[in-house]
Amino acid sequence: MLLTARTTAARPKALRTPRVAAALVTATVSAALVAAGVPSPATPLGIGDPLFPHLGNPGYDVTSYDIAFTYRGDNREPLEAVTKIDARVTQPLERVNLDFTHGEVRSAEVNGEAVRFASSGEDLVLTPAEPVGPGERLRITVRHTSDPVSGGKSQGGWLRTADGLAMANQADAAHLVFPCNDHPADKAMFTFRITAPKGLTAVANGLPAAEPRHNGSATTWAYRTHHPMATELAQVSIGRSTVLHRKGPHGLPVRDVVPTKDRKALERWLKKTPGQIAWMEKKVGRYPFEAYGVLVAPAKTGFELETQTLSLFEQQLFTLPHIPEWSVDALMVHELAHQWFGDSVSPRTWSDLWLNEGHATWYEALFTEERTRRSLADRMREAYRKSDGWRAEGGPPARPKRPAPGKKISLFRPVVYDGSALVLYALRQEIGHEAFERLERQWVRAHRDGTATTADFVRLASRNAGRDLGGFFDAWLYGEKTPPMPGHPDWRKAPVRGK
Ligand SMILES: [Zn+2]
Repeated sequence: MLLTARTTAARPKALRTPRVAAALVTATVSAALVAAGVPSPATPLGIGDPLFPHLGNPGYDVTSYDIAFTYRGDNREPLEAVTKIDARVTQPLERVNLDFTHGEVRSAEVNGEAVRFASSGEDLVLTPAEPVGPGERLRITVRHTSDPVSGGKSQGGWLRTADGLAMANQADAAHLVFPCNDHPADKAMFTFRITAPKGLTAVANGLPAAEPRHNGSATTWAYRTHHPMATELAQVSIGRSTVLHRKGPHGLPVRDVVPTKDRKALERWLKKTPGQIAWMEKKVGRYPFEAYGVLVAPAKTGFELETQTLSLFEQQLFTLPHIPEWSVDALMVHELAHQWFGDSVSPRTWSDLWLNEGHATWYEALFTEERTRRSLADRMREAYRKSDGWRAEGGPPARPKRPAPGKKISLFRPVVYDGSALVLYALRQEIGHEAFERLERQWVRAHRDGTATTADFVRLASRNAGRDLGGFFDAWLYGEKTPPMPGHPDWRKAPVRGK
């Protein structure tokens, strides 16, 4: 994600107050009760993410989602939906928790049998007739609605556009749209089937899985991802849109989704994408997915979002006259860079977010340096000056503070953007350009289609440098104060104002 530069658009998405359930403890208790044969109440669970303890659910691993939405043409009305989930059980479960809110559940089945279901907090809790055990497969079907209104403007999930809908699920809002295991640690394959009235176009992540099927006054569109994806990166766009096709490097399908009436005006921006992909490939290696493209949404979001294979951009980014061209280019490269950093290699926990945003900011700044006279070192010197203040406000890069209860602040603070690109700059100063560039290529290759942690990055960096960088990273990633910048003893920090 990146907040739109120099616009007066909306504030960043607010994050809801995390539930205070001690998720893993609850899970253990629940398992113990199964063993004792004592029925336990339906309780919301989580996988213990330090920032979002309520997100995700223990005990199973989703392999695929197949989600069908029926849209009737009014983006204030709930969509009818059927979500099918294939999963593998990893620990004994008396109940199966999914994350889901903002929809009415009509029925639920597990392995073909209707099951009892109940909402608890932001979980949908299913109770199969018999407990399930490790190694078993679960085929879950939930018939439900998906309400684009009740989520409110600031919570993410469905994004209501001028002519339909799009999705903005980062960080914790996919379960406002469909039942899921809503944590990037559990990536899965996705199929979307979208039925919409004639005249509208639906597009989702991945590539078409079938030709559009016309049925009277409606059309059904099907898309499938060719690589695993985190729930937060799902994208479904429905609107009066045109899909524009072009070729990227090595024949990569590039398809942009734009408001039909503005397609000509947007072309000058859209045609830049293949060159930007080629630039990124020169830096870090092959583009990791089956397609790429830009989704231009007629909506005021205040941010852009790296939804997998189809990044979301608010339209005004391309139309406001006071945003300089180099800055729009930089934003486009930022979201593109996320396809490697954040999408293909996903964070294991939300505290690893600096790996997403630090890298996306890094390539954004590097692209700007190569294409304009705005040097990376100047940007980093300014980041260095502010870094202690950012750390005081948001926590150190790899241990960001939780969003404060009830406050409309977000995880997406400066410390995870330029404050974390600064860590990469310090690393390059410390180990040299050659080792740094090798590390970047190895990182996206080693963890392609997977999830990775900060510790994984530290290990790979140490291996590339030929020495233990544990102490260096401890100070840069977890220190309350920014360490001295290697090679720049003259760089100064601004004093941090007291609270
Ligand atoms: Zn970003």
